Amino acid sequence: MSTPVIEATGLTKSFRGPKGATIPVLHDNDFTVDHGSVTVIIGPSGSGKTTMLRSLNALDIPDAGVIRIGEVSVDFATVGKPRPGLGSGRKFSRADNALLARYRLQSGMVFQSHNLFPNKTVLANITEGPVIVQKRDAEQARAEAHELLDQVGLAAQAEQLPHQLSGGQQQRVGIARALAMKPTVVLFDEPTSALDPELVGDVLGVIKDLATAGTTMVIVTHEIRFAQQVANQVLFIDGGAIVERGAPADVIGAPSNDRTKTFLKRIL
Ligand code: ADP
Repeated sequence: MSTPVIEATGLTKSFRGPKGATIPVLHDNDFTVDHGSVTVIIGPSGSGKTTMLRSLNALDIPDAGVIRIGEVSVDFATVGKPRPGLGSGRKFSRADNALLARYRLQSGMVFQSHNLFPNKTVLANITEGPVIVQKRDAEQARAEAHELLDQVGLAAQAEQLPHQLSGGQQQRVGIARALAMKPTVVLFDEPTSALDPELVGDVLGVIKDLATAGTTMVIVTHEIRFAQQVANQVLFIDGGAIVERGAPADVIGAPSNDRTKTFLKRIL
């Protein structure tokens, strides 16, 4: 078996609540993601799905746990020194920030709704990251952006502005923008939940095509039927812990855990 492309161990995260109270959200989670596979995270609202995804991108910094994505590994218990008097606040050294920057480039994030730059064309929205952040050749980045737009079915929209596109088209630009950075893995946080129902299919179709093309993806979604079709692995999270994991035929088709059964009964 090949080495997983993501390896997370002991992933633990809490937030600071009002009056400094600690709100534990993720408890000691271990999981792996294989190269070229699709992992779908399902679970009740508030169970920690988004926090798990944001931890993978270090948008949220876990309290503890080691996550390796590709060749970049971060031990979140030691990155950044806790700052006295600031609870879980941390002080990041230059080396810490450099490591986190390299780590963040391993994943591309697709959010519920995309804050595309409103005054930039679709093409410019996609080339911004590769050219400005990654300092790649502009001409090359434009050529690749055109290819990506073709891939997400928006070849004709390259010179349009975001407001001229439908929500589903904007979301597909968001996907192309994430792919343009050539991340090791693409993370999707409920990519269709902000869309009108008739636009959901197009976006899911693009994600299915990416799966067929072998793109490694981790997707938080409530689209259970879609999960059954594309997932290689389903993680069911409840109360901040992975309660059940496996192939969709098992976790969704024949769940063994009572909490998974109850959740699926409620939403199917
Ligand atoms: P899900 O995606 O499964 O709905 P989330 O990961 O968004 O769950 O949230 C899990 C829990 O963490 C919730 O109780 C939520 O209120 C809490 N939470 C999420 N983000 C923050 C934050 N920035 N500050 C405080 N609490 C948070």
